[in-house]
Amino acid sequence: MIRLERAFLFAMYNGNRMYEPEAADIERLVSWYRKNKRSFPWRDTKDPYHVWISEIMLQQTRTEAVISYFERFLKQVPDIETLSLIEDDDLNRLWEGLGYYSRARNLKKCAIKLMEEHGGRLPEDYEALLKLPGIGPYTAGAIMAIGFGRPYPAIDGNVLRVLARYFAIEDDIRQDATKNVITKSVEDYYRKTEPDQAFVKDLSQAFMDLGATVCIPNGAPRCDLCPLRENCQAYEQKLIEKIPYRSPLKQRKIIDRTLFIIRNGDRFLLRKREDKGLLAGLYEFSGVDEKLSAEKTKEYLAEKGYDVLHLKKLPDSKHVFSHIEWHMDAYEIKIGNWDIPLKENEILVNKKELQKLAIPSAFKTYIEYYALRESEDEI
Ligand code: SF4
Repeated sequence: MIRLERAFLFAMYNGNRMYEPEAADIERLVSWYRKNKRSFPWRDTKDPYHVWISEIMLQQTRTEAVISYFERFLKQVPDIETLSLIEDDDLNRLWEGLGYYSRARNLKKCAIKLMEEHGGRLPEDYEALLKLPGIGPYTAGAIMAIGFGRPYPAIDGNVLRVLARYFAIEDDIRQDATKNVITKSVEDYYRKTEPDQAFVKDLSQAFMDLGATVCIPNGAPRCDLCPLRENCQAYEQKLIEKIPYRSPLKQRKIIDRTLFIIRNGDRFLLRKREDKGLLAGLYEFSGVDEKLSAEKTKEYLAEKGYDVLHLKKLPDSKHVFSHIEWHMDAYEIKIGNWDIPLKENEILVNKKELQKLAIPSAFKTYIEYYALRESEDEI
């Protein structure tokens, strides 16, 4: 597939093929980026803290959706010290809607470690970054390259797709072996060319922008606009529909749930989830992990000591996490015995009090049903 007569170098390296991009293509890519780069608030800064926060938010979340979260977050948490001291509920509230709350928990854990061990700064050291909570090879590479201008690869899905196509690599890009080959191609490029800091910062972001706007994940790539087209092997060999290859993901586990939305006038009963596991420490409507009919729901609540006066079926809903799906039935429940003691993890809150709590977007259907959220400006 790789043709030696082209300008690519092709060699054996530790039993793997080794690929090197053409220096002229990379220069064209950076020039293209400098003319066409998308404007984002985290690009107006040289502060590695901003790069770190944006990269964590951008994992699993659309870039456009991150902008307002990023701006609001930095307004309230302008530096590492503030992040290390933030209350968990306030942090979760700032993160609400972004999902994958373990990212927020790890940000705080990491900030505490940075205060204790690194003088409140992100270390300019790839290996030291990798030892911090929530920072893996991609984020460490992005902080080094975009935050500090140091020549480290930041290989995300965009870079994998662009370079898999450019080199016409048909192997599964979910496999570490494929990722390693692509990572090595960027490392080798940096080692040979020793680019300056500005070039490194721009190249890392150029790959991201090319992957997001030209060599796109869904639909036909816009090869006519691509600065890499001249030597792109997938383009030349008409393989762009086959590459990148991704092996199918395992099927998600489906969990049936029944939610009990117990309300007393304008107040709602919520419970705090356990401190570890899915949606740790966040508030939710109470419920059980099984489908219950209206009759069974009444029986269940009666056994728990509730005097159910009225029960109304609410819309069903579904929420998809990375590995599981919740399929939820829900009932609005009015009870007659509000003197029943609340459990330690339960609270009864009105709409105003609820604004301060983080409610996962898994419950969006019911938050919207009761119009329980005010606009972001009011938070
Ligand atoms: S030429 Fe087409 S397939 Fe190749 S990198 Fe550019 S957009 Fe992607």
